Amino acid sequence: MSDAAVINAALNSPNRQYPLELTRNIGIAAHIDAGKTTTTERILFYTGLIHKIGDVDDGNTVTDWMEQERERGITITSAAVTCFWTQKAEEGLFKTRAGIAHRINIIDTPGHVDFTAEVERSMRVLDGAVAVFCGVAGVQPQSETVWRQATKYKVPRIAFVNKMDRTGANFDNALNDMRKKLNAYAFPVFLPIGAEDQFAGVVDIVNQKAIVWGPGEVTNEGLKYEVQEIPEALKEKAKDALAELIDAVSNKDDLIAEMVLEEKPIDAVTLKAAIRRLTCKIEMVPVLCGSAFKKKGVQVLVDAVVDYLPSPIDIPPAYGHELGSENKLEVPTDDNKQFCSLAFKLWTDPYAGKLVFFRVYSGQLKKGDNIYNPRTRRRERVSRLMVIQGSERKDIDAVYSGDIAALVGLRNIWTGDTLCDEEFDITLEPPTFPEPVISMAIEPKTKADRDKMSEGLQRLSEEDPTFHVFTNEETSQLIIAGMGELHLEIIRDRLKREFKVEADSGAPQIAYRETITKGADGEGKFIRQSGGRGQYGHACVRVEPNEKGKGVEVINDIVGGSIPREYIPAVENGIREAIKSGVYAGYQVIDIKVSITDGSFHEVDSNELAFKMAGIFALKNAFEKAGPILLEPVMKVEVTTPDEYQGDLLGDINRRRGVIQGVDAKGGQTVLNAHVPLAEMFGYATAIRSLSKGRAAYSMEPLNFEQVPNSVLTTVLDAAKKKPAARS
Ligand code: GDP
Repeated sequence: MSDAAVINAALNSPNRQYPLELTRNIGIAAHIDAGKTTTTERILFYTGLIHKIGDVDDGNTVTDWMEQERERGITITSAAVTCFWTQKAEEGLFKTRAGIAHRINIIDTPGHVDFTAEVERSMRVLDGAVAVFCGVAGVQPQSETVWRQATKYKVPRIAFVNKMDRTGANFDNALNDMRKKLNAYAFPVFLPIGAEDQFAGVVDIVNQKAIVWGPGEVTNEGLKYEVQEIPEALKEKAKDALAELIDAVSNKDDLIAEMVLEEKPIDAVTLKAAIRRLTCKIEMVPVLCGSAFKKKGVQVLVDAVVDYLPSPIDIPPAYGHELGSENKLEVPTDDNKQFCSLAFKLWTDPYAGKLVFFRVYSGQLKKGDNIYNPRTRRRERVSRLMVIQGSERKDIDAVYSGDIAALVGLRNIWTGDTLCDEEFDITLEPPTFPEPVISMAIEPKTKADRDKMSEGLQRLSEEDPTFHVFTNEETSQLIIAGMGELHLEIIRDRLKREFKVEADSGAPQIAYRETITKGADGEGKFIRQSGGRGQYGHACVRVEPNEKGKGVEVINDIVGGSIPREYIPAVENGIREAIKSGVYAGYQVIDIKVSITDGSFHEVDSNELAFKMAGIFALKNAFEKAGPILLEPVMKVEVTTPDEYQGDLLGDINRRRGVIQGVDAKGGQTVLNAHVPLAEMFGYATAIRSLSKGRAAYSMEPLNFEQVPNSVLTTVLDAAKKKPAARS
């Protein structure tokens, strides 16, 4: 059978024909502009999924960007696209299976930090990642963030140093950056041959061969390469690199260590297998290089994905817990176990409608089966299943453990929901998402659109957990909150395109947060007895600070029924409502633990409303006694500038309450790293331009929330009173 026939048979087979060990679920993660899109596009081209090789022309405005995404179609922005690759490299680890292609699912991980939520949720479902770095800029702040997320979700990685053709490209610098800034056990498996406009190909260190692209026309198969002897000038370096690689592997891998000790020759396949073992255990990062734009290095990159990144069975199984208990349950990658999957992205396809992309962890699911959602306690019938292959949408009949596919036409599913067998009532740990840092009031241009706008915003917030929408109780304004101005601008753009609502928005405001510094008890009573049937609700709570990033937890600690069971949810609702609009200055409360400890009830007068009110009062009462503080978002800022402006820029950062983390020289420029409160960063683009005559550049991303210092607290609180829209 030809590759294509094998693939089609595999996709449509009622029983799995596609061996799990030949599947790779990967993401391509990078700092914006490092070349993630170009690399993805080239991979899809070389794997035969798209037939025209296009180049990215970078637009700056949001609409340009959205248009571009649209034009390049769903291929690249789709949540997950499936492609196939047969290893051609002589010494490919999986060469023995040639004829059966590997199936590679590329899961989209956006580069812009405004979309951290998407990065987080895709990391959750990846088995491995290609981290793309710019050969000139090396490790940039967003690359660090993405790297940390990959570490948090235990995602094995290989690194691709891209843009080797650009002026200033320096492979060794990028490698050192990885070791220094990311603390990565990173070792090259390929070295560049030449750099900048002389970049010609790569040295395959493991096989001690040179791979040289072109010259020649780009054909339907892309740019051809030739395997050659290593150029004389690089022979010594290539030998040293192999010795260093073997040494690095032998430090961590027993088999290679033994072979080194016994002075046995280590052949390419044995070495590759050891690199694979270490990479899958996240103990090593193989480093490659190339120029996606010039189409050099892409085929070997896909070979390396297959060689070094894990299949779903090479990684530890996922875990979940029984609903309402801490009981941990293992979810083994096994077709014959109960079905369990995670919905990781909702996406509206222009042709197929609403899609829910999901990753199957265990079991199998066929068209016509039911799935169960533990969050809503609802069952739904699966009428259509689909995968996206290039620009094609392919209907499939079944999915198996380790697969990534899309459900079509299901409602009531949110990002992060577990979908499983009804008898296997399990909740996979959903990804955690950062708190929004910025908010703004929004209203439709025409009053008649208000309902349509709320509905649109609600839908968008179901898709994107870092996008919040709520109504300000005092002003009745609708407030949207997210990870940055671009994030909220794109939401407005989507409102217009997808929901046909034009909206005006207020100035962006800082999304402050509230929390507490110590434990305290509080009590709330809602008692009315004025003839007829009264109201009676009474609750006691204890609040404690929760670990940073853990959010709000509400626990029922009532023993002996001082509040009847049926009223506990009402008390909890009250607590959650009070938390939303804050207690101290009207901002949302984060990172606290609330236990409902005691209360009382009245046989006749008690009802849900009374207990909800009691919950609100009790929380407020406890919170006020618990040392409340105001938190503000702090950004990680990196400024790149010619030396002569360093002094002025440092002074300016100090005035903005910034804390300098480091000043380094890089590529003839100075790089300043600082942590600066977001509140002080408005207008920074203009300031930096005028301080450096337009020659300095900066990027920033949310770092964490920190206490607002007393020196500015009054100003912030006064401003909050004047601008209730800012609250979130
Ligand atoms: P993304 O933001 O990470 O998705 O990056 P893109 O793929 O959109 O690339 C950003 C810019 O860098 C575009 O103008 C690309 O043409 C350019 N670019 C990408 N890869 C390379 C490369 O290998 N060499 C050069 N010279 N430019 C590249």
